[in-house]
Amino acid sequence: MPSPVSSPVSGPATRITVLSGGVGGARFLQGLWHGIEQRLVPGVSPDARVTVVANTGDDWWVHGLKICPDLDTVMYTLGGGIDHERGWGRREETWHAKEELAGYGVEPTWFGLGDRDLATHLVRTQMLDAGYPLSQVTDALCRRWLEPTYGDRVRLLPMTDDRMETHVAIADPDSPSGRRVVHFQEYWVKLRAQVAAEALVFVGLEESSPAPGVIDAITDADLVVVPPSNPVVSVGTILGVPRVREALVATRARVVGLSPIVGGHHLRGMAEQLLTTIGVEVSAAGVGLHYGARSDGGVLDGWLVDEGDVADVRRVTEAGLACRAVPLLMTDLDATAAMAAAAVDLVS
Ligand code: GDP
Ligand code: CA
Repeated sequence: MPSPVSSPVSGPATRITVLSGGVGGARFLQGLWHGIEQRLVPGVSPDARVTVVANTGDDWWVHGLKICPDLDTVMYTLGGGIDHERGWGRREETWHAKEELAGYGVEPTWFGLGDRDLATHLVRTQMLDAGYPLSQVTDALCRRWLEPTYGDRVRLLPMTDDRMETHVAIADPDSPSGRRVVHFQEYWVKLRAQVAAEALVFVGLEESSPAPGVIDAITDADLVVVPPSNPVVSVGTILGVPRVREALVATRARVVGLSPIVGGHHLRGMAEQLLTTIGVEVSAAGVGLHYGARSDGGVLDGWLVDEGDVADVRRVTEAGLACRAVPLLMTDLDATAAMAAAAVDLVS
């Protein structure tokens, strides 16, 4: 066990903070909550509170509306409104507005805004236009989605209230520079991450400030979890918000992560492509070492890899991280709760 930076919290965790992207983070959160409720996670108090700090680097403006994909995925998933098949957007969705916009030839036609989902974006945009910061807007939206089920025990915070957008430089032979920079949404939704990402540009990240509550959520936590979210464009952006990394290094909480790379591949999304872009080995060990041990200037005390990646454990341990190989497929709530239990146990 690596020696933590300051003396660790003892006893069952009551304040848990999770640094989440969209689908991977949301599914983990669902399983974690199930585990807390069903008392399947021994190291966590049944009265535990969970604060989610969510990535906002995927956010963008389209048709005059502010879209926050990862905040909404977490909110809809925990609130029972998600479309499980797609993993994003509302269940029982219809697409009339999208068809009508296409009827006018309004671009971008490749970005799907469902009719039900549209209501969320309308409320959010109106509140932003009225001057409310994103964190307060998110709070207001969560009154519908989270409060009825979780009361004040689950809180969702955007990583920052500032505008921050992930952009991707791709090769474009038609451009004089040979390159073009597109918004992350265009790279992922339109181009399906099928063109090489030459570089990532985190617009506004360095100048951003953590949203109210973010630093406290890390500093005052008993346990911080890095779920199996995209290490580059989900967790990577959260870690890039000024003062977040420092808070993780300094917190008394144990910090534990779960690998989104299983058997050398991501399970959905584009982590493989983007890890390659930033020069990180596409493996469970590669991502763990990229986050690094807190005892060595990194952000983690422990790293869980999938049972099939047991050969990676030694390299991770040698780097000063606690590491164990367990099943890491979020196939159902019980399996995901077991992952959460293993993560807590690893750093207890
Ligand atoms: P996004 O914002 O919707 O892309 O979602 P996240 O960033 O939160 O999570 C995406 C990551 O989740 C991908 O890199 C996947 O490899 C990972 N992921 C999805 N399902 C699973 C699973 O069942 N197990 C593990 N270990 N990782 C998963
Ligand atoms: Ca995302």
